[in-house]
Amino acid sequence: MRKPMVAGNWKLHKTIPEALELVEGLKKDVGDKQDVDIVVAPVFTALNAVAKAVKGSNIAIAAQNCYFENSGAFTGEVSPALLKDAGCSRVILGHSERRQIFGENDDLINRKIKAVLAEGLDVIFCIGETLEERDSEQTMEVLRRQVVEGLKGVAAEDMQKVVIAYEPVWAIGTGKTASGDQAQEAHSFVRGMVSGIFNPDIAAQTRILYGGSVKPDNVDELMAQDDIDGTLVGGASLKVADFARIVRFEK
Ligand code: PEP
Repeated sequence: MRKPMVAGNWKLHKTIPEALELVEGLKKDVGDKQDVDIVVAPVFTALNAVAKAVKGSNIAIAAQNCYFENSGAFTGEVSPALLKDAGCSRVILGHSERRQIFGENDDLINRKIKAVLAEGLDVIFCIGETLEERDSEQTMEVLRRQVVEGLKGVAAEDMQKVVIAYEPVWAIGTGKTASGDQAQEAHSFVRGMVSGIFNPDIAAQTRILYGGSVKPDNVDELMAQDDIDGTLVGGASLKVADFARIVRFEK
C-alpha cells in the first residue's frame, strides 16, 4: 500500500559537474523505475542544474535544509519558495547533522516543516536518538518528543506530504547499522505515535524511511521489515552502482 521511497542525501559533496555526472548515471540505471520513488538531495548550488537534468525521469529533487521565512532580511538563508523555484519538490528537515552541528531544536524544525508544507512542498522529517540516549534507554522518549514537537500544528491532510525518516544518530556515517529488529521496533513505535496524533488511517499511509549506513549489503534485511518503507542514504548515495542497488532492494 505504501510506495517505497529511496532518498540520497549528498550532504556537502559534489560540484555542479560532479553532481550532473552522478545523476546522469542514476538516470541511466534507475531513472525509469516506476515502483519506487527516487529522490536525490544535492547541495544548494547544484539544485537547479540537477533538477533540469532529471526532468522526465522518475527522480525527484530535495533540498537538505531551508529557513521558515519566504523572504526578507535573513542573510545566508534559503526559503521554501526559492527551493521550489529552483526545481525542488521536497526538503529534508531535522537531519541529525542540523540538530547536532547547527543547534537546530524541535521548535525550529517544526516551524520549518510548516513553512515547507505551506509552500506546497513535501517534507522528509528526520528523527533519531544518539548512542548515549539509546544506552540510557531513552530511545522511545526521544522519538516521542521529536515526533510530537516536530509535527505540532501540522494539519492531518498535510500528512500525505510528510515522510518520516528514522535515523539513529549512532548509525549515521559510522558503518554501524541498526539491525532489522531494532529498526522495526522504532518504526512501529513511530507509526503508533502518528496514529495517536492523527489517526490509524494516516499512520497506515505515512511512509517511514530508515537511515544510517544503509548499503547494498544490508538494504534487503532492512526492507524486509513491515514498517520500513524505504531508506535515506548518505555515503552510499554518492556512487551510482551502490545507490542503484539500494533502489533495487529485494524484499
Ligand atoms: C544520512 O546522511 O542521512 C545518512 C544516513 O548517512 P549514511 O548513510 O552515510 O550513514
